[in-house]
Amino acid sequence: MVSLIDCKRYELDVVCNAVEQAWDTAGCPNPSGKTVLLKPNMLRAAAPELAVTTHPFVLRAAIRLMKARGAKRVLVGDSPGWQPPALAASASGLMEATKAEGAEWADFNDSVSIDSPSGLRVRRFTVARAAAEADLVVSLPKLKTHSLMYFTGAAKNLFGVIPGIQKSAFHLRFPGREEFGSMICDLVLALKPAASIMDAVVGMEGPGPNNGQPVDIGLIMGSTNVFELDWVASSLVGYKPMEISYLHLAASDTRYGFDAGAISTSGENPQTRHMHTFKRVEVLKENDFFRKRMPSWAYKPLKNLLVPRPVFLNKPCIRCSACIKICPADALAFTAGRNAPAVDYDKCIRCYCCHEVCPVDAIALKRGLFR
Ligand code: SF4
Ligand code: SF4
Repeated sequence: MVSLIDCKRYELDVVCNAVEQAWDTAGCPNPSGKTVLLKPNMLRAAAPELAVTTHPFVLRAAIRLMKARGAKRVLVGDSPGWQPPALAASASGLMEATKAEGAEWADFNDSVSIDSPSGLRVRRFTVARAAAEADLVVSLPKLKTHSLMYFTGAAKNLFGVIPGIQKSAFHLRFPGREEFGSMICDLVLALKPAASIMDAVVGMEGPGPNNGQPVDIGLIMGSTNVFELDWVASSLVGYKPMEISYLHLAASDTRYGFDAGAISTSGENPQTRHMHTFKRVEVLKENDFFRKRMPSWAYKPLKNLLVPRPVFLNKPCIRCSACIKICPADALAFTAGRNAPAVDYDKCIRCYCCHEVCPVDAIALKRGLFR
């Protein structure tokens, strides 16, 4: 069951009502006596109106609800890819929201290993201790586009439980969209999230998840199943869910316990709330036939034509080094004669982590035969 609750503005009482309705209508569990971890999307230090992070009012509403329903402890945490968590938590308003509602901020650098024995590709993850030890893990995603995954919602939001820069190692290990999506599915198996409440009051369209544009959607959505929620939410903004690698895998492999044909919705009608003009990340038709059969030297020019590569723009670059720090392939460096970093395209795995973290939109994703 996926609930869609109308919520057109960030007014605390309005958001609290919508979150409570979304929780109850979707049949989310009773938190009474439980330790709950709320996991918002805190990609980087960004003000709430940029729609990069989960809005602090959605977090406040979720904390209030957990406390009102008798939760023993309410923890909040996330781990941005490269910035100190305290910086991102402060700029996004999520730390203030946590304190205002009397919840505890969890240190996501304190990590433990958890097993996922039925995982397809990954059977052990190192995650924040708070995520491993909570009775209920609740994903609080923002509905956004994503340059690598096309869409980010409840499932991809869970990747933030991997501490800090350790996330880069997963990009290197699973460089392709399909492999990375498969890892996300295994992480869902390992964490067993109890529920999700999605902030789709204002989402992000265009080149997300960092440099897109805020767009009014007017919904709070909820579900006990991350795949069901992302299936409905991605459809709402115009994707075919089977184009999104982790949804495709989850729907095709019984180990993930997801039956796309059995999804039901309540509240607002998804047909009437469809976002016809939403600007999606273009879905690539990379030809697996050639990728799997051609030698890499022959496939490279074709890859440049088919798969966008990051192009660094000198003028807007403020030389913050965020892209260099996060690049899992060690493909970036400042060189003489250029303001922005230079890319070694032979090393670049097209993970777009650089694009994801650049604070000034100085990285374009472009296709072309030549460098
Ligand atoms: S340059 Fe950017 S896209 Fe290429 S590997 Fe590094 S972070 Fe990923
Ligand atoms: S391209 Fe962006 S992330 Fe990289 S150094 Fe320049 S401003 Fe920073």
